[in-house]
Amino acid sequence: MQDRTSDQEIGSQFDVIIIGAGISGMYQLYRLRKLGLTVRVFETGKDVGGTWYWNRYPGARFDSESYSYGYSFSEELLQEWEWQEHFSAQPETLRYLNYVADKFDLRKDIVFESPIKSASYEKAENLWLVTSDKGHTSSARFLITAIGPISAPTLPNIEGLDSYKGEAYHTGNWPHEPVDFRHKRVGIIGTGATGVQVIQEVAKTVGHLTVFQRSPNYCAPLGNSAIDEPTQKKIKASYPEIFKRCSETHGAFLHKADPRSAFDVTSEERQAFYEKLYAEPGFGIWMGNFRDVLVDKRANDTMNEFMARKIRERVTDPEIAEQLIPINHGFGTRRIPMETNYYEVYNQDNVKLVDLNEEPIRSITPLGILTESGEYEFDIIIYATGFDAVTGSFDKIDIRGEGGRRLKDKWSDGPKTYLGLQSAGFPNMLTLVGPHNAATFCNIPRCIEQNVDWVTDLILFMRDQNLVKVVASEAAEEEWTEHVLETAEKMLFAKVDSWFMGINKNLAHKRKRRFLLYAGGSPAYRERCNEVAADNYRGFQLE
Ligand code: NAP
Repeated sequence: MQDRTSDQEIGSQFDVIIIGAGISGMYQLYRLRKLGLTVRVFETGKDVGGTWYWNRYPGARFDSESYSYGYSFSEELLQEWEWQEHFSAQPETLRYLNYVADKFDLRKDIVFESPIKSASYEKAENLWLVTSDKGHTSSARFLITAIGPISAPTLPNIEGLDSYKGEAYHTGNWPHEPVDFRHKRVGIIGTGATGVQVIQEVAKTVGHLTVFQRSPNYCAPLGNSAIDEPTQKKIKASYPEIFKRCSETHGAFLHKADPRSAFDVTSEERQAFYEKLYAEPGFGIWMGNFRDVLVDKRANDTMNEFMARKIRERVTDPEIAEQLIPINHGFGTRRIPMETNYYEVYNQDNVKLVDLNEEPIRSITPLGILTESGEYEFDIIIYATGFDAVTGSFDKIDIRGEGGRRLKDKWSDGPKTYLGLQSAGFPNMLTLVGPHNAATFCNIPRCIEQNVDWVTDLILFMRDQNLVKVVASEAAEEEWTEHVLETAEKMLFAKVDSWFMGINKNLAHKRKRRFLLYAGGSPAYRERCNEVAADNYRGFQLE
C-alpha cells in the first residue's frame, strides 16, 4: 500500500506539484523525478489509478485495444505485462496501474486522500500555493493538473434524490465492495457509454432491472475476447508497430479512417463494408469508417440506417427496438458506447425499458422512482448519469492566477487555452489533458504521453535556459481557441447535444454551449506542439 507522506513533508516546497495520480499524473511524476526535480503528487483517492480507481462499476472496461492503451515508455514494462483480454476490464487495468506504481516506486511521492481545494499563483515569489482539504499548504514553481477530463460525476437534478432509502450509487463513485444484484430490483438511469456497460453486466444476475432512458445512443459490438498465448507473443513483438500506427491515426487508436467517401462505392459495397466493421472488434466502426461519415449528413444517414436495422434485428419487440434507435443525433456524433449483448438484454423477461420521453420522471421517492405513469420500487438505484466533463474537475478547485483571477470565472463562457496546455494569466500552470487539448478526444494514454513529454521538455528547456516563468500570451490563446472552435464546426457532433459540447442538463448553472475537445486529430496536434517547442515555445512568454 501507499507510503503516507508525513504532515511535515506535506507542507514543504517542491519544484513541481501535480494534482492527480491517474495515468497522466503517474507518468508525469516518473518523468520529472528522472530530471532530479522534487515533485509531490496530491491525490483524492486512497490509491493510484484515477478513472480506473473510481469507475469500478460492474462491466467497466476498455474500448481501446488493451495493448494500445498501456504506457509505451518502458520496454521492460511492455514485455513484463500480459494483458488478459483484448479489451481489458477495470480490475485488470487497475492492477496494471498498481504494478506500474510499484515497479517505478511512484507512491513515495504521492500524498493520498488529499483533495486539493485551492491553488493560487503568488506573483512576488513566482510560486504556486496549493492547499488540500485538510488545510495543508505546499508550494511549487510549477503546478501541473492531471485531474482527468471525465472525473467530476454528476447526479441527476431530480427532486427527492436524498429521500431514497435503498442503496444508490453513481457509477463514477462506485463502492470498493462488490454489490450483489441477485434477487434485487434494480433501476438504472442513463444509457451513455457507462450505462450500456453497467446495464449489460447487471442484467446477467439481477432479479429485475428497469432502465430509464432519456436518449438512446448508437451502440456497436465490442468484440472482446481473451488473448491467447501466440497472440500474446505477437503483441509483445510488435509494440513498435502498434504505437507507430496509433501515432498516425486521428484519435491515436489502432483504427484509421477509410480514405473513401461513403458514396465512392455502390450501395451493396457500402453495406458489406458496414457489416465488416460491425463484425470487427473495437472502435473501427467509429474511427475506421468512411472519411465523410462524421462530417457529411448524407453519408452519416447511410450509417444510421444500417445501425437502426441492426437494432431491429437484435431486439425482438418492435416497439422496444424503435425506442432504442436514436432520433436526436446521427451515428458517431456522440460517443459510441461499445457493447456485448446489450440489445439482447431487452429481450429478457426481467428487464423493462422506460422511455422517459413518453414517461418522464417526476421524482425520486423513498422507495424508488416516480414517473408520470406511476412508482417503480427498487432495492438499488444506479446513476449512470455522466460527468461535468473536462472543465468540471477544474471548477472544483479554486484556482487563481495573476491578479487573483479565478480560472472558473475566466472559463465561464467556455475554456480558453493555448494548445490545451495552458491558460493565459496562469503562469507555470500546465494542464495535462486540459480543455481544447487533443488528448480529450484520443486513445488517452497515447496523448497523455505526448502531453507529459512536451511539458517535461518545456521544464527542462527552462532549467537549461535559467528561465523561471512561462505564460501563454493572450494572442496565442485567442488564435488557438478560435482554431479549436472552427475545427469543431466542420464536424457533425458540433450540432448535437453531448458532453463534447459542454452540455450537462444536471448542472444548476446553465453553461454556454461550447466545444470542449480538440477535433483536429492527434497527429496535427502533436505536430503543432512540436513546432511551437522548436520555435523557442512560440506563443509563450518566458522570463
Ligand atoms: P454520458 O455519456 O454523459 O451519459 C449520461 C447518461 O445519463 C445519458 O444517457 C443521459 O441522457 C443520462 N442522464 C443524465 N442525467 C439524466 C437525468 N436527469 N434524467 C435522465 N437521464 C439522465 O456519461 P457516461 O455514460 O458516464 O460516459 C461519459 C464518458 O465517459 C463517455 O462518453 C466516455 O468518453 C467515457 N467512458 C469511457 C469508457 C471506456 O473507455 N470504456 C466507458 C464508459 C465511459 P441524455 O443523453 O439524454 O443526456
